[in-house]
Amino acid sequence: MNTPVWDDCDWKPLPRLEGTVRADICVIGLGGSGLAALEELTAQGANAVGLDAGAVGAGAAGRNGGFVLAGLAKFFHETCERFGPETAAAIYRQTAEETQRQAREMPDVIRLSGSLRLAADAAELADCRLHLAALRAAGFAAEPYAGPEGEGILLPTDGAMQPLRRVRAMAQKLREKRALLYEHSPVRQIATGAVMTEAGTVLCGQVLVAVDGRLERLLPELAPRVRTARLQMLATAPAPEVDFPRPVYWRYGYEYWQQRPDRSIALGGFRDHALEAEWTPDAEPTAFIQGLLEKFLREHLRVKAPVTHRWAASVAYTADGLPVLEQVRDKVWAVGAYSGTGNIVGALCGRAAARLACGQPSAWAELLARARGAG
Ligand SMILES: Cc1cc2nc3c(=O)[nH]c(=O)nc-3n(C[C@H](O)[C@H](O)[C@H](O)COP(=O)(O)OP(=O)(O)OC[C@H]3O[C@@H](n4cnc5c(N)ncnc54)[C@H](O)[C@@H]3O)c2cc1C
Repeated sequence: MNTPVWDDCDWKPLPRLEGTVRADICVIGLGGSGLAALEELTAQGANAVGLDAGAVGAGAAGRNGGFVLAGLAKFFHETCERFGPETAAAIYRQTAEETQRQAREMPDVIRLSGSLRLAADAAELADCRLHLAALRAAGFAAEPYAGPEGEGILLPTDGAMQPLRRVRAMAQKLREKRALLYEHSPVRQIATGAVMTEAGTVLCGQVLVAVDGRLERLLPELAPRVRTARLQMLATAPAPEVDFPRPVYWRYGYEYWQQRPDRSIALGGFRDHALEAEWTPDAEPTAFIQGLLEKFLREHLRVKAPVTHRWAASVAYTADGLPVLEQVRDKVWAVGAYSGTGNIVGALCGRAAARLACGQPSAWAELLARARGAG
């Protein structure tokens, strides 16, 4: 229980931080965001150290639905309404470009199959039409869809991936460039010029916190704006009785599933059915949500294959749906709170914060600032 279906590949554990090391910058969190930050820092020639409380991908980055989606967590037409069509389109464009970049870099991990947003009822179908119209008006690829899975829209430039394999591949490449990465090194204190773990210290000029779920625990000054929730999933044995060529999100994205290359199903959702209980830093699956997922699996998806995995992980939300990307204290940067959709946005934020910490401009950070100003 609580093992993701993605954990099917070999991983040689990294050392734990013991004693004192020195660095220009210490990155806390070895998920997709922290690793992207480390990639950028390495490219900038900075001497960086990365720490994780658990293993690489131990958080949401290695335990998620594997959807590779353009845009922010809110649908494109809602983003247009909130932040203006130009800013929304610029955000969408950058996320679509980041998707292409990741797919080019990791063709064995990411497949650009497109994604389906399917409507749960007539009202949602009407919303799908607004979503489609906004995307087309901005010149983005999107098509109406009606097929065996249901009715809605097809986003041909999206895709799916094996999320844990992605972050392990990122970490492996960083190690080949001699980046110092430490696992099982929970940070206990962030002080000026130093990060303290259970068994060691990083003496550093700057700190970059790249933690999605529980971000507000590590940086309590973000607590008024950031709230942690649990998301839950299950997966099955190969299910040849069903055919989902693309990842699907349904009922405004509350439920989401993909059929993996071995035909097994990874399905998540139903957070809103226990909304108060799921606003929690706890990351253990519960019988209630798992029961709803299994019922949906059998009755809606018509999957007969047995359930093999059940798991949960933490993510953080903001009220306006914009991620955190800022200097929260002198020389302490924070990225996170992707409101449930952080595979692409997290990488953009991690890289942007790394650039800002190096005194470089970031088009992504400027866009988010523009959106924040408009929202
Ligand atoms: C079930 C589920 C399904 C999801 N589905 C999708 C999806 O399909 N598509 C999508 O785009 N997004 C999805 N998301 C969201 C996405 O997974 C996250 O937004 C993204 O992975 C966040 O990456 P990250 O690197 O910022 O954070 P994380 O992956 O959470 O990484 C943070 C790391 O920081 C470490 N850490 C925390 N505290 C400390 C500390 N004190 N000291 C040291 N290290 C610490 C953690 O161990 C962790 O490894 C989903 C999330 C969940 C939980």
